[in-house]
Amino acid sequence: MSSSSTLRLVIIGGGYAGLSALITLRKLSHHAHITLIDPRPYHLLITRLHETVRQPLDIIQIPFPVLAKRFNFIYKQSFIEFNQDVLTVWDKHKKLQVNDETIPFDYLVIASGTIPFNTNTPSGVYDLNTLGKHNFSTVLQKLIACTDLEEPVINIIGAGPTGIQFTFEIAHVLKNCRRKFKLNLIDSHEKLLGTFPTELADYVEQRIAEKSISVLRNQYYKGIQNNQIGLENRRTGEEYTIASDLTLLLIGNQSKLTLQANLSGQVINHYTVLSSIFTAGDCSHFDGMGSNLMTSQSAIRKGMAVAKNILLKAGMLKFCLPYMHQDRGYLLSLGPNDAVGWIGNKNILVKGLPAFIAKETIEAKYGWWLLGKG
Ligand SMILES: Cc1cc2nc3c(=O)[nH]c(=O)nc-3n(C[C@H](O)[C@H](O)[C@H](O)COP(=O)(O)OP(=O)(O)OC[C@H]3O[C@@H](n4cnc5c(N)ncnc54)[C@H](O)[C@@H]3O)c2cc1C
Repeated sequence: MSSSSTLRLVIIGGGYAGLSALITLRKLSHHAHITLIDPRPYHLLITRLHETVRQPLDIIQIPFPVLAKRFNFIYKQSFIEFNQDVLTVWDKHKKLQVNDETIPFDYLVIASGTIPFNTNTPSGVYDLNTLGKHNFSTVLQKLIACTDLEEPVINIIGAGPTGIQFTFEIAHVLKNCRRKFKLNLIDSHEKLLGTFPTELADYVEQRIAEKSISVLRNQYYKGIQNNQIGLENRRTGEEYTIASDLTLLLIGNQSKLTLQANLSGQVINHYTVLSSIFTAGDCSHFDGMGSNLMTSQSAIRKGMAVAKNILLKAGMLKFCLPYMHQDRGYLLSLGPNDAVGWIGNKNILVKGLPAFIAKETIEAKYGWWLLGKG
């Protein structure tokens, strides 16, 4: 610890895990000196990204300077490059370089999440990166207002939870705009949401069938050029293209570097525990029984666990507690007033308005917590 014995904490990444660690640390340690580093100027409520189909993007952006004032921390806007060797050096010297500044720390938390699979998208194509930066509601309204096209075609590539949430939001907007559209949901699998409980997937299929959404199954995305999407039929091997006036490329995220951690969240590097570096969220994999699912719930719980362990380690006790959290539910939005998911147990399915209200309540609770009131 520093000579003045003020705990110096640095957090890389202000997503769900990083902010959870930060707010927990601030609540339990009023005097700690906390620095948060993130290349974005705002915390993005990514679990609500699909809402930007009909609402402005800024409803899901919370500027870091606002949070810095609320929770008394220093915010630095920067993207920190690191690899396993760099982590060993940081742990040894207990300092890191941010822009032109050297920042010393007692403990460092790495919560840098994952990155979208496709980052270079041509114009007219939106992936997770661009959706987080551009107002998609404006893009969609522009297409609706465009009279040059008789029946515009919107393609959503990737029918995972994100693709499905976006599809239902778009279907809702199109239904109310009184224009003919073609809305395609494209996936490389036969069965949608194959890793989810069957009943949940069946409910989604049933709702898709009720809307004017075409599902193109077993179609492998090969690329996009000049508004033509290249696909390969996984059954026949046939390659072909389809036209697209607006494309959403939602094929998932990848971890740049997954950090292995012990039961308490301390990074293990080359079989050695780095005593002053912890990790949390989607970029981490903890040993033991705790959930390593890439969900906001696990990210928040890992962040909390790591914050408490840092304070235990920095205090008299010098030991850490194991992270044991198991996710208690998952809810998928299917447009305004509809959702499906499970709560408590994967066999307990909730659907329709009750599921929608449950999802809204969880989001509101998180928003409340970010206001410092939870
Ligand atoms: C569209 C979408 C919808 C989702 N919906 C749900 C849902 O309904 N329910 C659910 O449980 N989960 C959902 N998830 C998953 C959930 O959002 C993630 O599990 C969660 O965001 C992980 O939190 P995290 O803090 O690890 O990473 P993130 O939230 O991704 O935050 C990482 C932060 O680190 C910053 N960063 C990255 N690299 C660096 C670097 N090198 N230096 C400094 N900063 C860096 C980023 O800018 C970002 O702010 C969804 C994910 C997506 C993409």
